[in-house]
Amino acid sequence: MNEQTLWASRAWLPGGWRESVLLEIDGLGRWQKVQPDTPLPEGVAPLAGPVLPGLVNAHSHAFQRAFAGLAERRETQDDDFWSWRDRMYRVAGAIDPAMLRAIAAQLYGELLRGGYTQVCEFHYVQHQPEGRPYPERHAMIQALVEAAAEVGIGLTVLPVLYERAGFALPELRPDQARFHLGAEDVWAAATAVQQQRHARLSAGVAIHSLRAARAESIHRLQALAEGFDGPIHIHVAEQPAEVRDCLAATGLRPVEWLAQQGLLDARWQLVHATHVNRAEILAVAHCGSTAVICPSTEANLGDGLTDLPAWLRAGVPLAIGSDSQVTRAWREELRWLDYGQRLSLKSRNVCAAPEAGQPATAERLWQSALDGGASAAGEASWGIHPGARADLLVVDLGDASLAGIPPGRLLDALVFSSPGRPWRDVMVAGDWVVREHQQRGAAERLGHFESVMQRLWAGSE
Ligand code: ZN
Repeated sequence: MNEQTLWASRAWLPGGWRESVLLEIDGLGRWQKVQPDTPLPEGVAPLAGPVLPGLVNAHSHAFQRAFAGLAERRETQDDDFWSWRDRMYRVAGAIDPAMLRAIAAQLYGELLRGGYTQVCEFHYVQHQPEGRPYPERHAMIQALVEAAAEVGIGLTVLPVLYERAGFALPELRPDQARFHLGAEDVWAAATAVQQQRHARLSAGVAIHSLRAARAESIHRLQALAEGFDGPIHIHVAEQPAEVRDCLAATGLRPVEWLAQQGLLDARWQLVHATHVNRAEILAVAHCGSTAVICPSTEANLGDGLTDLPAWLRAGVPLAIGSDSQVTRAWREELRWLDYGQRLSLKSRNVCAAPEAGQPATAERLWQSALDGGASAAGEASWGIHPGARADLLVVDLGDASLAGIPPGRLLDALVFSSPGRPWRDVMVAGDWVVREHQQRGAAERLGHFESVMQRLWAGSE
């Protein structure tokens, strides 16, 4: 890759907006020099609008893109997370590597257009439907790797430890057979990805949940990952029922259990840290772990609301995930994150902190999501500053949702004025992957995705 020099009239640097920013990219696709208050150099064309860093999508199950919009009818007396999950398994049980590749490529293109430049894939559909490994053992992971490479998004693959159906159910159900991965298998899969590692590909490990993994396996995985700098993700407390089951099985709530076992550190990413109490939030803050919230999915599944003001007060970074893919844009996730709190607390701007010099809700949530996202992807450095990967979003000030907005209110309008199509250009690791709202190969990807959808849903009304 060639070194490049860019210049932006405004850019979101650590600490907030700065003017007249010179940006130099090295031959490896990382920021080499970031210098505000610098006049436009001769021979350099200014970027078409203000720029933001790309955001990490901290929690994704790519295959669930094939299910978005298809679980919105109630056919029985009760409909909750668990009935949704049984229907979701219909897709999980039907896809093969080629289908996953087509679904993921469509999704990843949409995520780039939604302002994400890296996606953490919490990946548990590993084997053939009846549970036998594919002849090419990591065929499903490879499908994700190829899909991400095709569209140019960064990918953190998280193979998932998954070995039982519940605290008191030592085996998997037949419809979960293809998810089975023990601690050694997870480590082998993560290592295989690490061997291909490059600027846009990395690996971490994951534990499906405390209900789906034995304590000794979690400790075994932690021991294997000793000295590993990749992230460790877990679905932690999405449902009140799993908190109750954890209490019944261990005497502790999930986050309490993880802390008491001495497992938590800065590598741990607590996905759906929804049903947690204040003491658990303080324990997470003490350990330096991150909370990963997936607002649109948690709303769609009726999970409940986390105590967002308490997380923010405790200074825990809050990463954002698209999870079940009902929404593929971070602006909408941040808006939902905040609106849930406003509705529940019957107040406005509850996530702002004027007393700490942070009166802008969107800016505070955005900065938290940037910091949390970096941890979720295992990136030591993220954002527009030297050493971080050269990712950026160029804002289209011609978009009607931003017309006439004063420059200092841009993030407020990006989050709280919708709809809009604000990302004119998107860069990942020094490459333009969206140019003037266009992506190479988008029409072809959509065609492949549509034919997979027709196969999956043939015969449905
Ligand atoms: Zn999930």
